[in-house]
Amino acid sequence: MTQAFDDDTLRFYRGNAAAYAERKPAGGTLTRFLGELPPGARILELGCGAGHHAAEMLAAGFDIDATDGSPEMAAEASRRLGRPARTMLFHQLDADALYDGVWAYACLLHVPRDELGAVLTRVHRALKPGGLFYASFKSGEAEGRDKLARYYNYPSEDWLRACYAEAGAWESLTIETSEGRGFDQEVASFLHVVARKPAG
Ligand code: SAM
Repeated sequence: MTQAFDDDTLRFYRGNAAAYAERKPAGGTLTRFLGELPPGARILELGCGAGHHAAEMLAAGFDIDATDGSPEMAAEASRRLGRPARTMLFHQLDADALYDGVWAYACLLHVPRDELGAVLTRVHRALKPGGLFYASFKSGEAEGRDKLARYYNYPSEDWLRACYAEAGAWESLTIETSEGRGFDQEVASFLHVVARKPAG
């Protein structure tokens, strides 16, 4: 059995939280996601990093539960938000029908391939009926590491669809692609997955 998270990857974020906090993530997909949710919706953010997106969601009037597996990142997010962000690893998510939305920007891409299905199952359970789930991944064909030693699951679209399907029923699931530059400054292809849990 593989470990639920990758030690080297988490060590990287724990040791580079301050530097990472300087980097603002893109916001286009977030605006679209929020537009699909009712005003004031309860949103869980996984892997919130330094809290840039959480701050935008709070400012837009959403009820945000910001979490990150690195205590140092959660501290950066807490400072930015002026309220606590929780330290929580993905596999520790234990909520049941609590959230209208789950936002996981560029973070589940670090979940070991064998463990991703279990994390997606937890996300599915955490969503209320009709809830919306966004996650982004760097695309590829096989797992690997970048030059900063961070682990990536590098899924293909087909592999990802199969993984989501095993995790639970989705009323809809769309995948869009884009190109972008990561913290390692390398250009990468991203998969943006938006899935909605059936209304019940
Ligand atoms: N979403 C933020 C953003 O876009 O700025 C941060 C993205 S950063 C690429 C990935 C984040 O996932 C880091 O903050 C890291 O600490 C967190 N992370 C990595 N593995 C994790 C795990 N197993 N559980 C929870 N968080 C994890």
